[in-house]
Amino acid sequence: MELEEMYGRLGIRPAVYQYGESILRDLRDRFDAIDATAEYNQGKVIAAMQKNRVNATHFAATTGYGYDDAGRDNLERVYADVFHTEAALVRPQITCGTHALTVALSANLLPGDELLSPVGAPYDTLEEAIGIRESKCSLREYGVSYRQADLKPDGTFDYDTIRAAITPRTKLITIQRSKGYATRPTFSVEQIGTLITFCKSVKPDVKVMVDNCYGEFVERLEPSDLGADMVVGSLIKNPGGGLAPIGGYICGTAECVERCSYRLSAPGLGQEVGANLGLMPAFYQGLFLAPTVVAGALKGAIFAANIYERLGFACVPNATEPRHDIIQAVTLGSPEAMKAFCRGIQAAAPVDSYVTPEPWAMPGYDAEVIMAAGAFVQGSSIELSADGPIRPPYAVYFQGGLTWYHAKLGILMSLQKLAEAGLAALPE
Ligand SMILES: *Cc1c(COP(=O)(O)O)cnc(C)c1O
Repeated sequence: MELEEMYGRLGIRPAVYQYGESILRDLRDRFDAIDATAEYNQGKVIAAMQKNRVNATHFAATTGYGYDDAGRDNLERVYADVFHTEAALVRPQITCGTHALTVALSANLLPGDELLSPVGAPYDTLEEAIGIRESKCSLREYGVSYRQADLKPDGTFDYDTIRAAITPRTKLITIQRSKGYATRPTFSVEQIGTLITFCKSVKPDVKVMVDNCYGEFVERLEPSDLGADMVVGSLIKNPGGGLAPIGGYICGTAECVERCSYRLSAPGLGQEVGANLGLMPAFYQGLFLAPTVVAGALKGAIFAANIYERLGFACVPNATEPRHDIIQAVTLGSPEAMKAFCRGIQAAAPVDSYVTPEPWAMPGYDAEVIMAAGAFVQGSSIELSADGPIRPPYAVYFQGGLTWYHAKLGILMSLQKLAEAGLAALPE
């Protein structure tokens, strides 16, 4: 009862709270499995930190050129060990996920080379980096061509088309793990491994990069365990554990990562430069927390799918299927329901809870977009957040939650707001 009172104080009515508890009773086994994966990945991170003898000197700030930055260099060894790669580039100078991916691509593709995506169109922002949409300084402008093999209608890999698309010019293959904001399924690490093996059987010297955004620590294996030459992501998503205020990573073979370091700074300088600006405590501690933070976000996603599916809203992934990233899509069916949902997520936040999210026009979108986020780190999507374009089928994508309890509150609050607006009817 005490807990129900606390939720009452936060604005959750007893009927909503009790409906949530009834849903949770059926999720215990799945939550146990998530905890077991988090426990495994926690061990992986601690082992990497112990092996590399992490100590207080590694938390010291450096400025200027950042020569001999022991904390930065050791963090990169820790990341390489966590992802089981030869090398890693982990830097605050990598400004976001798109930047990390762009560095990895442009460092490893030269004029005349071709890039292949065997999993359909890449994430929106990469369209410009690649030059699918015309853009200044795109790979295309530098003479790198792009080819795409779409998925089959059922969302599986089209091996015949992929084989035909791999030519003597194909230098690099890019595989996006998470569905992002597309409607295709997210791939499991095992599926990605099978695809990598296939591509390398067609062309043994082809390099494979995996866009690992939103996938880190969801499973026990990472794509780098199954043959990826580079795995790439953002530190304000999973691996930053909510503490990293900026940054990106590229883990991979020594050969690929070295090239990335020259592209990020300058030929000849590479990994030797790049001061850490005092961010090492956040980077190390964030990585340390990341497995449990990801577990909380996953529980939130599964809770939401079960809450909303039982109320008649379509969810991707659905209530029961396995998870390979932390994104949950809920089709709400109307602009009003999207607004109510986002008001709930916002009202449950520790930061900016008093703000009312409103749809607004965003560059690159053909519809207005609504976003709810009350985050400690601006734009961080490992923190609880929701967004979506205001157009049919009126789906919100939501993700994150630094703790399971916050994710739970956010989802209950979204339902509270829908119920108050008469847009969702709780079962008797
Ligand atoms: C978030 C994301 C990106 C881009 O990351 P930004 O940090 O927003 O630039 C790329 N790919 C996928 C799958 C993502 O989820």
